[in-house]
Amino acid sequence: MKRPTRNRVPRPTSRSTLRRNSVVTGLSALYPSNPAGPVTDFDTLTSHMRACTLCKDLPLGPRPIFQLDRRARMLIVGQAPGRITHAKGRPFDDPSGDRLRDWLGLGRDSFYHDPRVGIFPMGLCFPGTGKGGDLPPPPICAATWRAPVIEDLNEVELTVILGAYAIGWHRPALKRMTVAEAVRTTGGGRDGVFVLPHPSPRNNRWLRQNSWFETDILPALKSAVTKALT
Ligand code: SF4
Repeated sequence: MKRPTRNRVPRPTSRSTLRRNSVVTGLSALYPSNPAGPVTDFDTLTSHMRACTLCKDLPLGPRPIFQLDRRARMLIVGQAPGRITHAKGRPFDDPSGDRLRDWLGLGRDSFYHDPRVGIFPMGLCFPGTGKGGDLPPPPICAATWRAPVIEDLNEVELTVILGAYAIGWHRPALKRMTVAEAVRTTGGGRDGVFVLPHPSPRNNRWLRQNSWFETDILPALKSAVTKALT
């Protein structure tokens, strides 16, 4: 029997709306003669996404990286793959991922092989680097793929949000808050969402200055993960 859906993240645009709106991003516009026909099922949708070459100015070329199964119960939403992730073809296979797994209370095996763990960044390909670090995810990526994919993830009951771009899409009401405020606001996970600072070593200073994150937020987060994956 299908599990009741709890605490789902609101969806800014439904798939049916996307289909009605010809301006959109439209999958049909992207793939007008797709031999698989209209995009009607999740596997077809993700295979189109994996083959996407929409962005022509990516420094290392398109290489969409995500980990999704329609049975996902927890969704991790980051910014975009970095250079190392692009090379490895696997999300969070780096020190940031080690810290994230520690925060979630998950080992590598569960993180990468449990179909209930989904990883779906705001940008699916490495966007390149600028003066201040990696560039933002190309907006067209979320505009094209995000709503139809989220629409099909009916089992998600916990969403873990990392970074401003993910907040902007999944929780726009928190957009103007500082990271600390957004983390505190969602810290109880009451509506099935946790905002976290990015687990990158670059945030070591923030973590040192905000020790409440470890004592107040992480136990609740681990508990929510256990609940979602049980
Ligand atoms: S970043 Fe997104 S829209 Fe651009 S090529 Fe990669 S998958 Fe396609």
